Amino acid sequence: MYSFRGRRIRKKLQKKRLTASFDTIFLAHVENLLRQAGIPAEQRNQFSAGGLGELPAMDVMPELWVEATAYTKADDILSQVIRDRDINEKPVWICPQCGESIEGQFSQCWQCGHWLEEEK
Ligand SMILES: [Zn+2]
Repeated sequence: MYSFRGRRIRKKLQKKRLTASFDTIFLAHVENLLRQAGIPAEQRNQFSAGGLGELPAMDVMPELWVEATAYTKADDILSQVIRDRDINEKPVWICPQCGESIEGQFSQCWQCGHWLEEEK
């Protein structure tokens, strides 16, 4: 019962990598929420992005680590943050002029040039 994904936890305070992202604002946001939930988190690699040209990307991608004992709870919080972020993304819209479906980040139809009216 003490194994996480096949790995045994030998030390009580062993750290576990929660997530990795080049989006440091996102990582800082998750870190804040974890602290509010009483889970100490630490960022690693966060200042090494300057070496990106020489090192493999995965080696310099900023990471968020938590204590292994808090991993399950931290992962729940992370999942919630990702869900909230996805909900806030703009939905696909259908052009009223030609019926083309346009991704939410675009405000003009690539097919016919119709502009999406801004919601007020
Ligand atoms: Zn159109």
